[in-house]
Amino acid sequence: MNGYCQDRRESSSLTFISKLPIVHSKLPHIKETIFTTMSRIAAEAGAINLSQGFPGFAPDPRLTDLIAHFTQNGNNQYAPMMGILELREALVQKTLNCYGVATDAEKEWTIVSGATQAIFSAVTAVVSPGDEVIVLEPAFDSYDPAILLNGAVPIHVPLDERDFSPDWNKIEAAITAKTKLIIVNTPHNPSGYVWTQSDMDQLARLVDKFGLYVVSDEVYEHILFDGREHLSLLLHPVLRSRTFVCGSFGKTFHITGWKIGYCVAVPELTIEFRKIHQYVTFTTVRPAQHALAVYLQEESTYLGLSEFYQRKRDLFLEGLSKTQFEFEPTQGSFFQQVRYGHLSEMGDKELAILLTQKLKVACIPVSSFYADGRDHKILRFCFAKEEEELIEATRRLERISDLFG
Ligand code: PMP
Repeated sequence: MNGYCQDRRESSSLTFISKLPIVHSKLPHIKETIFTTMSRIAAEAGAINLSQGFPGFAPDPRLTDLIAHFTQNGNNQYAPMMGILELREALVQKTLNCYGVATDAEKEWTIVSGATQAIFSAVTAVVSPGDEVIVLEPAFDSYDPAILLNGAVPIHVPLDERDFSPDWNKIEAAITAKTKLIIVNTPHNPSGYVWTQSDMDQLARLVDKFGLYVVSDEVYEHILFDGREHLSLLLHPVLRSRTFVCGSFGKTFHITGWKIGYCVAVPELTIEFRKIHQYVTFTTVRPAQHALAVYLQEESTYLGLSEFYQRKRDLFLEGLSKTQFEFEPTQGSFFQQVRYGHLSEMGDKELAILLTQKLKVACIPVSSFYADGRDHKILRFCFAKEEEELIEATRRLERISDLFG
């Protein structure tokens, strides 16, 4: 019998009351995530799952051979807290190649267990109870809980309703004396919006004016379309000194299950980041670090990614153009949003479930990326899937109007 769930019984001196412990939830509003819900409904319906954002194909066998090699030849004990030096040095080289920015392997890079952990640790490093944090919506679902668990307050500022660009007037108006941090994401999930130089300059102006910190979620840094280039916040001198840039190998190398990513920030920020990181996980899976350190030596492993996904995006768009959805080609990430407000008043959650059950294609309702659930009648599809699946999915979506009968 455990101490929590006993029948009422009397003892000589104590009375035990039958009661489950009452946990005062720190996240009372958080339920099962929409990604789990939609993937479950997709599995039950036998639907093509374009909901959750993970690649539907295997990583390069050279990478899986490398991780096998490193596990079979030692490298199975704790890695150093900040990650192995070889991987941090490889990231320094990659950052120089991609952005022409010099960084310091020893003092500025930390290898972590995925971008989610990087974001959590960065928020925790700088945010205190009562602080306010600007979150641009729609937003990836891990930002708010990281803020709330630190006793801080997320201040939600909507992105432009048409193209999902940041509205700098609205953002400035939301800043108060309590604002400590702003979280940004380019290329953006779910809209695919890619930041421009003007966005960077506007952010730098606010950071400078109000002394803000920035968490920049750049997990889709290598997936941009139509010749666009990723503008890492590392590129801007003002932002460079105030920003935690968080990234993930999961998106770049089709290894989301490895849960490995990184944070790069100036030494003053990295010292605080590592204090948190070492008590969240202490260190990150070692053989994966060795495998990636070798794999990153070849630039083609990450430089070809935009081209790889552009083919998939274009194929998906070609199929979508035969449906009644309205859409703008996504600029980056592996997500495509579509609008259906001209066809129906149905709520996006209801439609996403119906679409999964009846047309057997799963997607994510974009209202779930807003804290207040606001519904612009937009669905998000992930096209990081095999071409046959994308063709079949859009063929099924041609029957979308059947659902509004
Ligand atoms: N940020 C964004 C915008 C994402 O889309 C994701 C993954 N869906 C993450 C962070 C999390 O990355 P990781 O799996 O490395 O924790």
